[in-house]
Amino acid sequence: MSRTTVATIHLGALRHNLARIRGLAGDARVMAVVKADAYGHGLERVARALDDEADAFAVAAIADGLRLRAAGHRQRIVVLSGPDTPSDIAEMQRLRLEALVHHDAQLPWLAGADPARGPLRVWLKIDTGMHRLGFAPSHAREVHAMLRAMPAVDGEVGLMTHFASSEVFQGEATVQQMARFREATDGLPGPRALSNSAAVLGWPEARADWVRTGGLLYGLSVVEGASGADFGFRPAMTLTTRLVAINRLARGERVGYNGTYVCPEDMPIGVAAIGYGDGYPRSAATGTPVLVGGVPVSIVGRVSMDLITIDLRNAPSARVGDRVTLWGEGLPVEVVAASAGTIAYDLTCGMTRRVLFVEDDA
Ligand SMILES: *Cc1c(COP(=O)(O)O)cnc(C)c1O
Repeated sequence: MSRTTVATIHLGALRHNLARIRGLAGDARVMAVVKADAYGHGLERVARALDDEADAFAVAAIADGLRLRAAGHRQRIVVLSGPDTPSDIAEMQRLRLEALVHHDAQLPWLAGADPARGPLRVWLKIDTGMHRLGFAPSHAREVHAMLRAMPAVDGEVGLMTHFASSEVFQGEATVQQMARFREATDGLPGPRALSNSAAVLGWPEARADWVRTGGLLYGLSVVEGASGADFGFRPAMTLTTRLVAINRLARGERVGYNGTYVCPEDMPIGVAAIGYGDGYPRSAATGTPVLVGGVPVSIVGRVSMDLITIDLRNAPSARVGDRVTLWGEGLPVEVVAASAGTIAYDLTCGMTRRVLFVEDDA
């Protein structure tokens, strides 16, 4: 096997990050969000690392809940988009998955559920401004009462909302969403869950009974200009490959598809075995940093399917075979994401099957 593109998942970092979340979240319980194959880190792997620590897991799809149960996890598992069809209800009862109730269409399915299959725990999703999933605040009380009266629904109905821009620590949007939530739920019984990762960092008043953290678990930040490390988190994924060639090009020569990079002087160009076929973003611009043997340098020209090209002028001792770090320890994925016009979550979620996943305990 000659291709050596490796994503190393740091299990110790996952545990450190969950402990750090607890430090920030006060008494709130922590729902570890492991949707999208744990943001690309591997669902079973991450769940195993956090099994003793997470108060609940949150997934986007029932199939992921099934994978967690099959792996032996007995925690509470919340399905963040709820049942999508009437037949999902019995499956959720069988697997003891918790349903998110966000739309009128789901109510008759729940009302018709068979109580003999066991009580279904539900969370009522209220749309306080994201305008994606959720009931209008003016309907929250009515739906809450309906749910509590349903024979197959557990009497403790949770209350949930989701922030649209909690990574903006100043400004009105989140303040307004918190106020709408309070107004819609004031006096209702049941546990509250409002905060995503950015809210855990910037909106302590939104902690409530549960926080739902994804990004921070993996050491990822969506706060503009900041990486997880700036808040005391550690990257859970380091992506590496090897240098497979070093070419000495003359001033004026062009590099890569469409020749978008022109060498400003005679210079060494390194070639590393990774590309968009592995999930490295094709949109990464000339100047995006990488580490070669630990030395910071940058990519030049277009990212291709299997290879990237690197300006090695700042790494004169680089040799073919040297390790190249694309992101992770020593190079925040947030920096790479910004250079590719996206967010860190998008990059870690995008690893393809060609990447070899390994674990370490660090
Ligand atoms: C994905 C998701 C989260 C987690 O968001 P992070 O920013 O990764 O912490 C929380 N709640 C809901 C409803 C989500 O869809």
